[in-house]
Amino acid sequence: MIIFGAKPKYKTISSGEFFCPSCQKTRRYERKGGKNYFSLYFIPVFPMGDLDEFIECQTCGRSYHPDVLKQKLSKPAPDVARLLNMVRTRLENGYPVEYMVRDLTDDGLDRDIALNVVEMAIGSERKICPKCDLTYASSILACADCDQTLRVK
Ligand SMILES: [Zn+2]
Ligand SMILES: [Zn+2]
Repeated sequence: MIIFGAKPKYKTISSGEFFCPSCQKTRRYERKGGKNYFSLYFIPVFPMGDLDEFIECQTCGRSYHPDVLKQKLSKPAPDVARLLNMVRTRLENGYPVEYMVRDLTDDGLDRDIALNVVEMAIGSERKICPKCDLTYASSILACADCDQTLRVK
């Protein structure tokens, strides 16, 4: 019996670093391309057609359309859970909301997103300092800046 069929053969065309959507980190990739080979007894004999190129993450092994390389290499998506935790901890320890928002925008977040993050962390209730107008999480009693007793906003 003669066994024949098509057998894909891939080779690495290039490699480099990319932002892997699965790892959520910058990883090494290999760009693979290949041809389908006509095979006889499982041995590739001659090429029959090109296979689509793809990008393979060298860490998780997932493959992607080559367009994945167009994504920006730089900033990985922020770890939202960790960010929220940090923001909540600081605000519940008496850090003024305005300072927190400023820190977050200094870190490159849009102001709207920073305000959202704060609201996700501590809700929308605020206390306000009658003297300096800084606002705080609702559990805070006194202003960190001037020691005034806060009132509910
Ligand atoms: Zn990966
Ligand atoms: Zn104050």
